[in-house]
Amino acid sequence: MTNNRLERFAAKLVRLPRVGLTRLPTPLEPLHRLTDHLGGPQIWVKREDCSGFGFGGNKLRKLDYVLAEASDADTLVSGGVVQSNSSRQVAAAAAKLGLDCHLAVYHGRLKPPGPVYETSGNIALNRLFGATLHDVPWTGDRNRAIEDLARDLHPQGRKPYIVPYGVSSGLGASGYASAALETAQQAAAENFAPSAVVHCSGSGATQAGLAVGAAACLPECAVIGIDIDAEPERVRADVVRYATAAAEMLDVPFDAARIDVVAGHAGPAYGVPHQATLDAIKLMGRLEALALDPVYSGKGLAGLIALIEAGRWTPDDDIVFVHTGGGPALFAYPDIFSH
Ligand SMILES: *Cc1c(COP(=O)(O)O)cnc(C)c1O
Repeated sequence: MTNNRLERFAAKLVRLPRVGLTRLPTPLEPLHRLTDHLGGPQIWVKREDCSGFGFGGNKLRKLDYVLAEASDADTLVSGGVVQSNSSRQVAAAAAKLGLDCHLAVYHGRLKPPGPVYETSGNIALNRLFGATLHDVPWTGDRNRAIEDLARDLHPQGRKPYIVPYGVSSGLGASGYASAALETAQQAAAENFAPSAVVHCSGSGATQAGLAVGAAACLPECAVIGIDIDAEPERVRADVVRYATAAAEMLDVPFDAARIDVVAGHAGPAYGVPHQATLDAIKLMGRLEALALDPVYSGKGLAGLIALIEAGRWTPDDDIVFVHTGGGPALFAYPDIFSH
């Protein structure tokens, strides 16, 4: 019964073209020391930080499917904030595929936490991977400056392909549904059925893909997105939009009422970690040697810990925490390492 369900969904997913950028499946591992420390439930980690080259992360899985559309392009154009993991993964993918890469670097979405914010971590890696960087002011419109860059490249004879902010689109979400299928397969092999998949949610296609995939493969499992943008209504609306598109593309039923975006763990603003985030990052480092980040995954774990402490699950439940990557941003926030 379960196997049939997974096979049916796998057959739909395999029809989506993929570039083959990522090494799939990413591992699913138990976190025994974190589980013991919190007194249950059983916590597992889906290692999307190990999705491949360029320090990995959840955007590579989306790009693997999205860039199948880019076969005529000679240049990838995208953008994000200075410490965008998404931009860094686009730059890495461009390097791997032998494409040029132009990135809009948004300044002003957040107040830099210190001087190295502008020079280290992801922004340094963008340069290392050969991307051309264009400094632009943050206006709140996530895709405008990216589209402007692409338009300017046409008269130069370039063939740009636009990768949207956060690699979030219906296609990106469809590709990300593969992470839910893998989780279902890996959990079955480990003899457990997850009660929830918990991760941090920003531009939305990660949660959209997980929700559509889980509806098909893990119907008893909740998908819980921890809002890290301090904009839970906008996040939820975007997740619903991408999930609706992905469900149509993959031809699976989907109910928007299942989209669960949890507010209250974003700290004061996007990119600004609060004490619970710093504590969560340090806990994961000390107990499991996993590097979470102050913008995304640290807030995701802070949210998961708060839900556990509020009694959402019993010690017998199995919970999958998705490590979406982001480790390089740690080095842009050096105060995290001081005691
Ligand atoms: C982009 C990102 C997320 C959020 O994924 P979305 O699809 O944008 O919601 C989570 N964690 C990390 C580390 C990211 O870079």
